[in-house]
Amino acid sequence: MSAGPVSAAWMARAERWLPGGVSSPVRAFRAVGGTPLVIRRGSGAEIEDVDGRRFTDFVGSWGPLILGHAHPEVVHAITEAAGRGTTFGAPGEMEIELAERIASAYPGGEQVRFVSSGTEATMSAIRLARGATGRDRIVKFSGCYHGHADHLLVAAGSGLVTFGRPSSAGVPAAFARETIVLPLDDEARLTELLRREGDRIAAVIIEPVPANNGLLIQRQEFLATLRRETERAGTLLIFDEVISGFRVARGGAAELLGITPDLATFGKVIGGGLPVGAFGGRRDLMRHLAPDGPVYQAGTLSGNALAMAAGLATLTVLERDRAWERLEATGRSLATLIEPVLAASSCPATLVRLGSLFWFSLQPGPPPRSAEAIDPEAAARYRPIFHALLDHGVAMAPSAYEVGFLSLAHQAVHLERLRDALALALQPAAVRAGSP
Ligand SMILES: *Cc1c(COP(=O)(O)O)cnc(C)c1O
Repeated sequence: MSAGPVSAAWMARAERWLPGGVSSPVRAFRAVGGTPLVIRRGSGAEIEDVDGRRFTDFVGSWGPLILGHAHPEVVHAITEAAGRGTTFGAPGEMEIELAERIASAYPGGEQVRFVSSGTEATMSAIRLARGATGRDRIVKFSGCYHGHADHLLVAAGSGLVTFGRPSSAGVPAAFARETIVLPLDDEARLTELLRREGDRIAAVIIEPVPANNGLLIQRQEFLATLRRETERAGTLLIFDEVISGFRVARGGAAELLGITPDLATFGKVIGGGLPVGAFGGRRDLMRHLAPDGPVYQAGTLSGNALAMAAGLATLTVLERDRAWERLEATGRSLATLIEPVLAASSCPATLVRLGSLFWFSLQPGPPPRSAEAIDPEAAARYRPIFHALLDHGVAMAPSAYEVGFLSLAHQAVHLERLRDALALALQPAAVRAGSP
């Protein structure tokens, strides 16, 4: 579907003042073609663009909106907080309360520090891990995204020892060489690396539920091996729970999997739609941070009053309303509704789901568990489906590799809209047409 005339006019103006017309690249629709819709408002599970067209939203601002758009209790908390002043550059009650909530909900959590984005959380957790261990190297997995800090914008190099190469211009090769990239779902490679040179590796960082390159649900055995081998090597294990924290369970993926990392990072849900990140873990590691220790980390707006208010209100609703049970039930209903539609389609399509996270694997065979196992053709299959869904009033992320997000605001009617739109989008003619 093409953007309406008002959206198109705004985007023409945006192109002049914002690189690519956007503040974050994937919003630009480059992976699917066409012009982005400019969004004016959202309420519950629906959004409305500047042309007045309404869509059922499964993007949820890419993860934060677990209660849906403009949840009354979150809006109320933000409004009240704003009336008392937005920022003081001094400790605040809500920041202390939110820290207590996060740390006490998370397995092994003893302390947290607030930052303003998920990127800052992972960047700072890596610095802390290096400072605490006195080691420089880190390990990440291809197919996991940890924000845009230099050491994490690294892709697998070729060869047996996969020292990373920058995946962005502007990242020094010397930095990237301190990052080793491994494939997911491969405990032999992981074990071999950690046994050979674990004593030089500060940390292994992983999305325990990888949800930034499709939804690559890992085998328990792989994650258990990761825990065992990092412990044996004295290498810290960092769970990047920026998506999964307070979404897949109250205690994030750590609770769900029964695996406790040394450090964890948070973002998205804990900010209730405002810019928040946090990292935390054991006190004996966190005490390395300034002012107690030598690892420097700071932020003018860290623990910002509005953000803390939104986060606290969100966690309060989640805990009060048995959110995780309800989100799982919504996810199950979604599966019941759309699995028959996917099965009947001539396009290979499987629903991959964990709680309120879902993704369409557009390739034959079982869902992939590593980035390397994703069929490159899948992205081309997604393009016409994405546009046809928009045509029928359903907004999914403008990329084949992004997951869908369910919220407490998604009711049966919204799931039915996705089913109906999908049935139309997957008709052979629509799949072939390859609009826009
Ligand atoms: C979104 C995300 C980040 C980065 O968070 P930002 O707030 O966008 O900087 C880091 N890690 C994971 C797993 C994410 O999904």
